[in-house]
Amino acid sequence: MSPSSAAAILLSDVHLSDERPQQVERFLAVLAGPARAAGALYILGDLFEYWVGDDDQDAALPRRIIQALADLSAADCAVYLVVGNRDFLLGQAFAARTGAVLLDDPVCVDLCGTPTILMHGDLLCTDDVSYLRFRDQVRTPAWQQAFLAQPLAVRHQIARGATAESGRAKQQKHEDIMDVTTQAVAEVFRQFAASRLIHGHTHRPATHTHLVDGRPCKRWVLPDWYVGGGYLRADASGLQRIQWAADPAGLNESPTPPSE
Ligand code: MN
Repeated sequence: MSPSSAAAILLSDVHLSDERPQQVERFLAVLAGPARAAGALYILGDLFEYWVGDDDQDAALPRRIIQALADLSAADCAVYLVVGNRDFLLGQAFAARTGAVLLDDPVCVDLCGTPTILMHGDLLCTDDVSYLRFRDQVRTPAWQQAFLAQPLAVRHQIARGATAESGRAKQQKHEDIMDVTTQAVAEVFRQFAASRLIHGHTHRPATHTHLVDGRPCKRWVLPDWYVGGGYLRADASGLQRIQWAADPAGLNESPTPPSE
């Protein structure tokens, strides 16, 4: 584990896409400003709307993001990455190009002096049985090798189809299924014996207190960046939420935000 930095920025669910240029600019501004000043950046999944493999690096958007993350690493900011359900194919080649360190999900880190569990958050939604089955399948080496063997254009087509399909499936699932379960949350707090958890994925930014075996534990949920956005800033004194609402000027270019 790397030494604890003085401060850190944590964010997730940026869902970078050519369809939302404003979010791309905001993300680059957070890298160049607050992240660089903090000295550590944790990206907790779904940085990209979807990712079809680390060999897809030549288009303008991935090129810009890879360059910006590499610049940040070169400026002595530690970059840590947990993959999400949309960009679970981000791998070692992406990490090598950007200087990012891939983290397990869940993982417990020393966050500016406080043991903190980090996750994307999808593993906490244990009522969504069909999604978790799909997750197990696409994380096997066999599935990934078969997918990555397809031409890039085919992979893009499949990913776009899966994104649309997941939007339709979500409309049919009850809202509660797509939130975390208190049992899964309690289990992860027990597993690491830590009392702070930060995750994204649900797009329900809030700070919750859980009583786990009589122990008060705090769960910080990060916002998505579809319309508004934000991040957490950690330092020795604790966590601070920085959040922004939608830009009126940007609303027209944002399609209906998917629920996840
Ligand atoms: Mn997600």
